Amino acid sequence: MAECDPIGNHNVLLVDDDPFMLKLVTAALKVTGIERVVTTESGKEALRLIDERKDFDVVLCDLNMPEMDGLEMLRLLGEAGFGGGVILISGEDARILDTTLSLAKAHDLNVLGAIEKPVSPDALSALLPKLQVRETARGARPSIKIEEDELRAGIENDEIVVFYQPKVSVATKALIGVEALVRWRRADGNLVPPGFFIPLAEDTGLIDALTQSIMDQAINQAGNWARQDMPVKVSINVSVDSLDRLDIPALILAAAEKAETDPALLMVEVTESRLMADIAKPLELLTRLRLNRIGLSIDDFGTGHSSMEQLKQIPFTELKIDRAFVHGAATDHAAQAILGSSVELAKRMNMTTVAEGVETQADWDQVAALSVDLVQGYFIAKPMPEAEFTDWARDWRAAN
Ligand code: C2E
Ligand code: CA
Ligand code: CA
Repeated sequence: MAECDPIGNHNVLLVDDDPFMLKLVTAALKVTGIERVVTTESGKEALRLIDERKDFDVVLCDLNMPEMDGLEMLRLLGEAGFGGGVILISGEDARILDTTLSLAKAHDLNVLGAIEKPVSPDALSALLPKLQVRETARGARPSIKIEEDELRAGIENDEIVVFYQPKVSVATKALIGVEALVRWRRADGNLVPPGFFIPLAEDTGLIDALTQSIMDQAINQAGNWARQDMPVKVSINVSVDSLDRLDIPALILAAAEKAETDPALLMVEVTESRLMADIAKPLELLTRLRLNRIGLSIDDFGTGHSSMEQLKQIPFTELKIDRAFVHGAATDHAAQAILGSSVELAKRMNMTTVAEGVETQADWDQVAALSVDLVQGYFIAKPMPEAEFTDWARDWRAAN
């Protein structure tokens, strides 16, 4: 969509299980000048249409639908990488809507806002212009289109590099660990962030080779740091797809032996939403990691729907609260509630808590007030290449 497209040119997809609501909202959209509206009563059909047409600017979605509820719809939209605007429609109270908005943010959706039923043209007119503001902001980012062959060549040519972002103790400010975050340093010097190639790697099976390269580097680094009197724990992200296919515990142990790194210095992070989809298979692998003293972290907590029962099944040692519930929590009551209850839950299950996305002093104060154990975020430091990290760690230690 061009930056200065008038709102009237938007293609809108409207999803609501109630045909009467579809008519009402279509009429309200017309009043705001939007004529190009496609409606469907089914979330599944909506996702199919989005995939097929790829030209929807805005999706308006009812939260309460029988076959696929709005929460699942949001998750699937996020996984599909839907880049348009999302407006939620609901008859629920403001708290549920607030929480749902936080969730949608966590799925990296471009959420314009929520509207309570009945939907008025005024409410629509207030939200729709937000799409253009966000589009302009996003337009500044260069879009990168990557082909499978390029990525394969990148991996073979050792262009995959690992950056490290510190995790520090809230109570003592001590450096406790780092998260290994992959970057692709292309021959032209451009640094490609993981969001641009991890999904492609997962779809094409290249993720296994990628994971192997990242692990080798990060595990080697963990050993080097320990030998330099800096025994930080190194966390590695493992995609649930790789967990399925690769013998991750054996891979890690082999790499650790080769690099002379104590496995107890290593942690594996798996994302909550992906893991809980099918817990049976990974359970054995995850438990085997713990048997070998490798830490196990549940990542992006709050974005999935894991139950207490599921959490109890897996011997997680750490719980990372997604940044959607951390950054800005001081003034966002729904986020604060999720943050607080996640900390409680983790404590009851003896897990270390990590707050991701601490960007400001206010974020730090908020997580400190809730007794979160560790923080990670731009307020402390951005992810850095190894050489820079060593300097940062020295300065941090001197200053704190
Ligand atoms: P993640 O595991 O949730 O990693 C944290 C992401 O948040 C990183 O983005 C990090 O740079 C970013 N971040 C850290 N502090 C802040 C903050 O204060 N504010 C904000 N807004 N963001 C912050 P990055 O490096 O772009 O990684 C994105 C995602 O890509 C990761 O999310 C992870 O899911 C995936 N990823 C990264 N490295 C790997 C990897 O080696 N293997 C796999 N399978 N996935 C990876
Ligand atoms: Ca992670
Ligand atoms: Ca995370």
